[in-house]
Amino acid sequence: MRRAAGLWILLTACSIPEAPLAEHVFVERHMGTRVAVKVWAASPEQAKRAADAGFAQIAAVDAAMSDYKPDSELNRLNAAAGEGPRPVSGPLFDVLQASKRMAERTDGAFDVTLAPLVLLWRQSRKDRRLPSPEALAEARARSGHADLVLDPAARTAELRRPGMKIDLGGIAKGYACDRALEAVVREGCPRAYVDTGGGMAIGDPPPGRDAWRIGMIGDARKVLLLKNCGVATAGDLEQFVEIEGRRYSHIIDPATGLGLTNRAMATVVAPTGLAADAVDTALCILGPERGFALGGFEAWMQWVGEDGRVRTAQTAGFARFLAPE
Ligand code: ADP
Ligand code: MG
Repeated sequence: MRRAAGLWILLTACSIPEAPLAEHVFVERHMGTRVAVKVWAASPEQAKRAADAGFAQIAAVDAAMSDYKPDSELNRLNAAAGEGPRPVSGPLFDVLQASKRMAERTDGAFDVTLAPLVLLWRQSRKDRRLPSPEALAEARARSGHADLVLDPAARTAELRRPGMKIDLGGIAKGYACDRALEAVVREGCPRAYVDTGGGMAIGDPPPGRDAWRIGMIGDARKVLLLKNCGVATAGDLEQFVEIEGRRYSHIIDPATGLGLTNRAMATVVAPTGLAADAVDTALCILGPERGFALGGFEAWMQWVGEDGRVRTAQTAGFARFLAPE
C-alpha cells in the first residue's frame, strides 16, 4: 500500500502540469452538408468560441464561393463573363489561383470552368436522360481554363467568353476547412480538426497521442493516423445515377462532357485541405497511373475495371498513414 502511494506521488511530481484539456464536438449544417468541429479545449466556453469562429469561416467561404447562392461573389464574377477583368476578394483569388494551377497540372482534367457542363449534367441526372450532342457542344464551347485569366498584381479575375462560368464544388470545401481550422487555432485550440464529410483539415493531435484516428471513407476497416494535414475523399462506388443502363458519377470527365463511368473513388492526404480536395477529384478522372505522377500527396484509389472487378491502388507513402489492423 505504502509503495503504491509513493509511486503515485513520484509520478505526479514528474509530470509537467498542463491545463486539463477535454474534447468537445460541435456540428452545424453548412454548404449543404454536415460540418463537425472537434477541439480539445481548457473549458467548454473556449471550445464553443473556437468552434463558432470555425463555423463563421465556413459560412464566409460559402457566401463567397457558392454557386447555389445567386448573390455570391462567385456568381457575380460569373455574371460578368465576357465583360473584362473584375476585382475579387483575397480568398476567392487564392482558390481561383489554386484551381487554375490544378487545371494546368492535370491538363484540364480538373477544371473549374467546366461549370456549364456540370450544370448540364446536373439536369441530365435529374431527368435521367443524356444531354443532346448540341447541348453538350454548346456547354463545352463555354468551358476551358485557358480563358480564365488571373492577375495577381491587380487581384482581378476575368472570364474571357460570355456565358463562361466557374464551379468550385470540387475544391471549395477543402479550402473552407483550412480557413476554419486556422480560426479554431487562433482561439487557442491547436488540437482540433474540421470535418465536412468528404474533406477535412486536421491540426495538432489530441493530448498524449501522436495523431488523430480518422476512419477512412470507402473502406470501413481502414483507420488513418493523421495530424497537421488535409484529407479528402471524392467519388463513391455506390453513389451514382443510372442512365440507359450505365452508371455515371457527378464528376465530369472533360473528354466526354458527361459524368465518369469508372465508379472511381480517391482518398488523398495532402499538406492542406484545399490541396487534398483538388487532387481527390482529379485522381478520379486521371486514374492512378497519370494521377499519382502529379506528386505532392499520398493517396489510395478504388475503381471498377472494364471487367467489372473492383481494383485498388495506393501511392508508395500512403501505408505510413494506416493504423495497424
Ligand atoms: P464532393 O465530394 O463534395 O462531391 P468532389 O471533390 O468529389 O466533391 O467534387 C465534385 C464536384 O466538383 C462536383 O459536384 C462539381 O461541382 C465539381 N466538378 C465536377 N467535375 C469536375 C472537374 N472535372 N473539374 C473540377 N470540378 C469538377
Ligand atoms: Mg474534390
